[in-house]
Amino acid sequence: MECPKCHSEFKAIKYEGIEVDRCIKCEGIWFDVLEHEELKKIKGSESIDSGDPEKGKEYNKIDKIDCPKCKTQMIRMTDLNQSHIWYEKCSICNGVFFDAGEFKDFKKYTLSDFIKSFITKERK
Ligand SMILES: [Zn+2]
Ligand SMILES: [Zn+2]
Repeated sequence: MECPKCHSEFKAIKYEGIEVDRCIKCEGIWFDVLEHEELKKIKGSESIDSGDPEKGKEYNKIDKIDCPKCKTQMIRMTDLNQSHIWYEKCSICNGVFFDAGEFKDFKKYTLSDFIKSFITKERK
């Protein structure tokens, strides 16, 4: 599989039995359907996103990409909870592409949100 942004190769990385593909050059990550949601629930999984977020920001500007799996043009999505995160989704195979640093950011919400809801409960 070829990276849809920089056309380098993906390298398979595994975390807790879930295999994702990370680009060797731009360090963006490809997740097959719902893998990013699965990994979000697993503690420590942000370690797979070891890329430089600055590099990710540059590649984030490229928004017309084709799905590396089925070659369909992907749609740009924003995360419902964190609107500053833009990622690309394929409407056919439902795979998603996160630029370097975006998965870490995507995951961070869960934790701070959890803490926030905990504090709100405490106040009641
Ligand atoms: Zn790449
Ligand atoms: Zn696809």
